[in-house]
Amino acid sequence: MGKVRMYTCGPTVYDFAHIGNFRAFLFEDLLKRWLIQRDFRVTHVMNLTDIDDKTIKGSQKQGVPLQQFTDFYVKAFFEDIKVLNIKPADVYPKATDHIPEMVALIKKLMVKGIAYKGEDGSIYFSVCKFSDYGKLSHIKVDELKAGARVSQDEYAKEDAQDFALWKAWTAEDGDVYWVTELGKGRPGWHIECSAMSMKYLGETFDIHCGGVDNMFPHHENETAQSEAATGKKFVNYWMHNEHLQVEGKKMSKSFGNFHTLRDLLTKGNDPIAIRYLLMSTHYRQQFNFTFEGLESAKAAVDRLRNFVRRLHEADGKESSGKVANFIAKAEACFGGSMDDDLNIGIALASLFDFVREINSLLDANTVSKSEAADIGGLMMRFDAVLGVIGKVEVEEALSADIDALVQKREAARKAKNWKEADEIRVQLKAMGIVLEDTAQGVRWHKEKA
Ligand SMILES: [Zn+2]
Repeated sequence: MGKVRMYTCGPTVYDFAHIGNFRAFLFEDLLKRWLIQRDFRVTHVMNLTDIDDKTIKGSQKQGVPLQQFTDFYVKAFFEDIKVLNIKPADVYPKATDHIPEMVALIKKLMVKGIAYKGEDGSIYFSVCKFSDYGKLSHIKVDELKAGARVSQDEYAKEDAQDFALWKAWTAEDGDVYWVTELGKGRPGWHIECSAMSMKYLGETFDIHCGGVDNMFPHHENETAQSEAATGKKFVNYWMHNEHLQVEGKKMSKSFGNFHTLRDLLTKGNDPIAIRYLLMSTHYRQQFNFTFEGLESAKAAVDRLRNFVRRLHEADGKESSGKVANFIAKAEACFGGSMDDDLNIGIALASLFDFVREINSLLDANTVSKSEAADIGGLMMRFDAVLGVIGKVEVEEALSADIDALVQKREAARKAKNWKEADEIRVQLKAMGIVLEDTAQGVRWHKEKA
């Protein structure tokens, strides 16, 4: 069995995650589910950024300790991914639990002469000492301002220069600091992901994902820090998802088109429709979120669920090989498309072609019970990847009906109404239900097909 070690940049826990964040997390979920479907054993690590410029600012604004502030959003994040049916990662390392690993990595870079202490007491990565700097985001290193430094976590490409690995404590940090061999201060955001990914996945690992907006500076800096420290390739495959827009515009609080998952759920939207919508555009394409699109996503999910429900009722004659052919075709097309850099658009199109083809066989009553079971099996395999159909509650609904009929028959028998009792027995038999008298009363089970 092949193994895949995968790292995905997790949430910065200073607010509720928005749909742009979830586009990334859902693309990663789809990737992971597909690798699992193809029999890879995936080790997935997703960090939680609980110390950076934004979390400190947020906790100070609310006047609560940093950990109390971030714990709240960590909890919210786990609730959100559950609602979206995102498979959890194997490890969720928190940055604040890995300060010693970060310090060790920075010390290694200092020993190699790649990191240095500035006069402000912070420790910086010397970009000119790492000749591969810029290879991921294609930044032109010779245009960088020599010796200039940036200490914030986020900055634009034109401001690329030596960046902070360890930030010396300043009054703005308040009571957030660690006293280490590097001095009193806190780690920069980028070193967190280098230290945590290599701790859990090794110095070289297979896949690193994230939003394209994190390619620079975050992933560029992660690569520089890690490769400069180890002398080894950091990541074999980078996969970046493109931006999300809302109604054709950049999502922004100032445009009034900023949506967290929670906003959408409060308005009564189905989380699984949101899931379907956010993952149904190829990850390397810009995605435009619209409420019209959300309606269509809801209809698509309902269509799949109704289809699976309908399969339970199929009891026609054999399709003379048609069903088997449609299954083979759908499986090959879906699989081939997903193998092709997760071409979800084509994969979904082949799924809906399949649903349409089988529906017309069902209309003509030419799907047997055993063929319906094969179709159901395929739908389960598809749904292991898509995660949108879930357990369709046919069996449960049926159980409630049957229980009601069995009780009605018992009541008839007690009233010595043999005719009615017998009629119900015949009705149940027609549904494939066998009744059994036991010491505890009447039990029922389904006839074996
Ligand atoms: Zn990261």
